[in-house]
Amino acid sequence: MSELRKDPIIDRWVIIAAERGRRPTDYHSPRPTPGGVACPLCVGNERMTPSEIWAVRPGGSAPNGPGWQVRVVPNKYPALRVEGSAERRGLGNFDLMDGIGAHEIIIESPDHDWRMADGPPEAIAQVLLAWQLRLSDLYRDERLRYCVIFRNHGAEAGATLSHPHSQIMAIPVVPQRVKDKLQAAREYFERKERCIFCDVLNQELALGERVVIDNGRFVAFAPFASRFPFELAIYPKQHAHDFASIDEPGRLALAEVLQQCLLHLRPALGWPAYNFILNVSPNRVPRPGKPHFWSTLQFDYHWHIEILPRVTHIAGFEWGTGFYINPVSPEEAARFLRDEIARPAGEEGEVSGRDG
Ligand SMILES: [Zn+2]
Ligand SMILES: [Zn+2]
Repeated sequence: MSELRKDPIIDRWVIIAAERGRRPTDYHSPRPTPGGVACPLCVGNERMTPSEIWAVRPGGSAPNGPGWQVRVVPNKYPALRVEGSAERRGLGNFDLMDGIGAHEIIIESPDHDWRMADGPPEAIAQVLLAWQLRLSDLYRDERLRYCVIFRNHGAEAGATLSHPHSQIMAIPVVPQRVKDKLQAAREYFERKERCIFCDVLNQELALGERVVIDNGRFVAFAPFASRFPFELAIYPKQHAHDFASIDEPGRLALAEVLQQCLLHLRPALGWPAYNFILNVSPNRVPRPGKPHFWSTLQFDYHWHIEILPRVTHIAGFEWGTGFYINPVSPEEAARFLRDEIARPAGEEGEVSGRDG
């Protein structure tokens, strides 16, 4: 029997249609075969990218050459550029503005075949640091109102380069989808004087059935109204609205949870394409005519990560309704991942080891 579930934060409906007789692992993706084209993100090919903005260079090597561990460069084909004005124009009742913003690539490793799932957490923590520093720097430009940090992993998730990388895009408006979430969180706080994300998290911890990992600082769980098989959310356990403020032990703790999540998706899904989205607060620089814009964020917003494996297809029904159909219940996905994590290393599960 399928079930309609509503996301408690943004009121989005999902159809959980767990099909009888199908197992969670029926959504396995094969490992992609590498192509033979020179990769512009590989070590030694630094000249193929625009000049670097920031890099981790432990030996103090010169910029734009080898010797780096993480490297941030502008996107060679940016969707948005820094030059221009943030002013809005009208054309009749249509709204227009210059395509200002920033679009940067975080090259997460010099090694083309490195995968975040392989760790170690120290390497992932350097990527998290790059995200924090770029986010803080971009928010110094008050024209840039929102930053989204994401990874498209695999062709089905929209990745055009297979080298491990993430992207940061800064845009001159707060997108409606983000505004809906921020507004829902603010209204909830006004009514209850509690953060809705903290409430969701505490409820998940009390129930336990959808929790995958809890390492004391971060919790990964399969959301109640998951849109995709094995969709995961990662929340900091302590209320926090500002991703940029996590300290070094926090980065390591988050890196550990991230690695565990990505690693244990493999026995379930093989080498799935996925989208990873880091939901941060908007830029809190006061706006003309709106001096109190998002001034309550520190109480009512809670940054979080979404991992969305792309093993099912978004088609007409999803575009036409905004609903999603998820054939794997989040309870089943969480149980599967918990069992994988608990399994002693080396011991093969039902399907693990099939592809890696
Ligand atoms: Zn490469
Ligand atoms: Zn909170």
